[in-house]
Amino acid sequence: MPYTAYISHPDCLLHDPGRHHPERPGRLHAVRNALLDEGLLEGLCLLDAPPATDAQLQRVHTAAHVAHIRASTPASGHQALLDPDTIMGEHTLQAALRAAGAGIEGVRAVMEGDADNAFCAVRPPGHHAERARAMGFCLFNNVAVAAAHALEHYALSRVAIADFDVHHGNGTEDIFRDDPRVLYCSSFQHPYYPDTPHAERDHLIHTPLAARTAGAGFRAALERDWIPAMDRFMPELVLVSAGFDAHRDDPLASLNLDEDDFAWVTRALAAVASRHAGGRLVSMLEGGYDLPALGLSAAAHVRVLCCAPERQTSGRP
Ligand SMILES: [Zn+2]
Repeated sequence: MPYTAYISHPDCLLHDPGRHHPERPGRLHAVRNALLDEGLLEGLCLLDAPPATDAQLQRVHTAAHVAHIRASTPASGHQALLDPDTIMGEHTLQAALRAAGAGIEGVRAVMEGDADNAFCAVRPPGHHAERARAMGFCLFNNVAVAAAHALEHYALSRVAIADFDVHHGNGTEDIFRDDPRVLYCSSFQHPYYPDTPHAERDHLIHTPLAARTAGAGFRAALERDWIPAMDRFMPELVLVSAGFDAHRDDPLASLNLDEDDFAWVTRALAAVASRHAGGRLVSMLEGGYDLPALGLSAAAHVRVLCCAPERQTSGRP
């Protein structure tokens, strides 16, 4: 059985964007409680997320962006960044640094053999954060920071990022648009937020889905677009932007997936990791705003990671 790490930090609960904001601390309680209820948490390797360093953040963000986020902490109350939904409170910086650091720790754990795969239960999410701007609840691009760490610190040359959040990860595309060492596969409701232009590159796989697309359409689209591209790319590490807001109960969007679909995509990605990356996979929480659906979906995702296929070692001594 694979050894799965669960990476989080209490500071991620301290980010308070305001009473009526959907990206709320209770999301992490919902994830953890679902894992507890289903008896999964006790089998995981619990690791604390360290804060990301400025040097790690600046592999994917401009120094000016990192300085801007650092300087935007309000003395009290809330401070809106680029858009009115992307909010900093007194403790948001700590949460954002831990969220980005979780991916660093996940990559370390799987690269150094402390875990086979990892799930990072963190907030704020990251995939809308571009190289030089915060947006869509995201300050730092957590999964991009993790990918850059794998490329730079561990000298990998092929990292795949699979993003099944209901929103397109414009930030991740912005950061890796001209870096073919990263295969970025994103499925997303379309047309929908953020509705930024998509670059056409061989290493950017866009899978737009019409509103009300359900599991069969989602699975067929990923089998058509993602799996062949990943098998051609042969990633040395698979990263996942695990947003669960494509769930049919989610209040922010209009796709009709359920937890079985999230289990299916997790199995498919774990199989890619097994074929090409020694099973190495690091998943990071992105969206998911209906708390019961988020808990069930994250539990379905983690259950598959715990039972992912063993590393394929045939042909090696
Ligand atoms: Zn989302």
